[in-house]
Amino acid sequence: MPGVLVFCEVSEGRLKKASREALSIGRKLAEKAGGDLAAFVAGSGAAGVAAECGKYGAKKLYAGAHGSLDNYTTEAYATVLQQVVKDSSPSILLFGGTSNGRDLAPRLAARLNVGVASDVDRLEWNDGKLRARRPVYSGKAFATVDVTGAPAIATCRPNAFPAEESAGGAAEIVNVTAQGESRARVIETKISEAGEVSLAEADIIVSGGRGLKEGSNFSLIRDLAHAIGGAVGASRAIVDAGWVDHQYQVGQTGRVVSPNLYIAAGVSGAIQHLAGMSSSKHIVAINKDAEAPIFRIADLAVVGDLFQILPALTEEVKKAKAH
Ligand SMILES: Cc1cc2nc3c(=O)[nH]c(=O)nc-3n(C[C@H](O)[C@H](O)[C@H](O)COP(=O)(O)OP(=O)(O)OC[C@H]3O[C@@H](n4cnc5c(N)ncnc54)[C@H](O)[C@@H]3O)c2cc1C
Repeated sequence: MPGVLVFCEVSEGRLKKASREALSIGRKLAEKAGGDLAAFVAGSGAAGVAAECGKYGAKKLYAGAHGSLDNYTTEAYATVLQQVVKDSSPSILLFGGTSNGRDLAPRLAARLNVGVASDVDRLEWNDGKLRARRPVYSGKAFATVDVTGAPAIATCRPNAFPAEESAGGAAEIVNVTAQGESRARVIETKISEAGEVSLAEADIIVSGGRGLKEGSNFSLIRDLAHAIGGAVGASRAIVDAGWVDHQYQVGQTGRVVSPNLYIAAGVSGAIQHLAGMSSSKHIVAINKDAEAPIFRIADLAVVGDLFQILPALTEEVKKAKAH
C-alpha cells in the first residue's frame, strides 16, 4: 500500500522537473508516514518512465496508458486518478505546481471530500497529519496548515523542493484499466516558440518590463535568455500593452516562479510583480532608477541603462559559454 501517491507528468519521454521534485519530497514523506512511494502517469507513454520513477524512489507506477489520456482534460484525468486513489488508498497525494497539477488537485479534493493545500513550499508529516507551509498575502507572510482527510492533498511550488535521486530500481508497473470520459475535446495544440524554456521548469528566468520602451526591444530579453539557457518572463505592464503573451507574465495575476536566478530588467518591482518572484534564490535587477523598489529585494543591483547592459551581458555570456 503506498503511503504517498504522486501525479506525474511526462514531456518528451521524461518526467517533468515539477514531477521529479514532487517525487523527491514524496519519498521523504513516505519514509515518515509509512508505506511506499507510488507514481501515477497518464497517456500512451506512461510505462516508459518506470525506470525514472524508480530513480526518484517510486516503488510502483500506476500507468493509465490509454490514448484517450494523451491530451490532458480535467474530467477524464480526475476520474482515472480517483480510481487509482481508491485502489491504492494513499495517505498523501501530491501534485507538481504545473498548470495541470494546479487544475487537477482541487478537483480531486472536491470529489474525495478532503483538504488540499496549494502552492506549498514546505511539507512535513506531523502526528499523523500532513503539515504544509504556503505563502499568503502575495508572499508577505506564510501560513502553516494541517491538511485534513485521507488522502491529504498538496500542490508543490516549483523549485521549492530539490529533485534528488535515490538508488531505486525501476518502479513496478501497475496497469490502470479505468477510463475517463470528458465533455471537453482538444481541438488543437499549439507549441510555444521552438527552443524556449518553460517558465515553470526554468532554473534561470530573464524578465523584462516597461523600461524596454517598446515591444520589439523584448528581443534583448530573449537574446540573453537564449544565451544563458533560461526562460523569458514579463511584467504585467508589457503583457497588457500587448508586447508579449500572458503566458510569460510573472506575478500575482501571472505565474509564481522560484528559479535559482531571476534577472529583471526595466521592471520597477511593484508588489504584484514581487508576489510572483520574490522567493527566487538569487535576484539580479537592472534599472536606471537607483530608488526602484525591485532593488529592495535584489541580491545584485545594477543601476544603469538596460539598452547598454543587456547586450553587453549577452555578449559576455556567449563568450564565457564558448570556452
Ligand atoms: C490587481 C493587480 C494585479 C497585478 N498583477 C500583476 C502581475 O501579476 N505582474 C506584474 O508584473 N504586475 C502586476 N500588476 C501591475 C503592477 O502594479 C505594475 O503596474 C507593473 O508590475 C509595472 O510593470 P513594470 O515594472 O514593467 O513597469 P513600470 O512600473 O513602469 O517600471 C518600469 C521600470 O523601468 C525602469 N526603466 C526605464 N527605462 C529604463 C532603462 N533604459 N534602463 C533600465 N531601467 C529602465 C524604470 O526606472 C522603472 O522602474 C498588477 C496590478 C494590479 C492592480
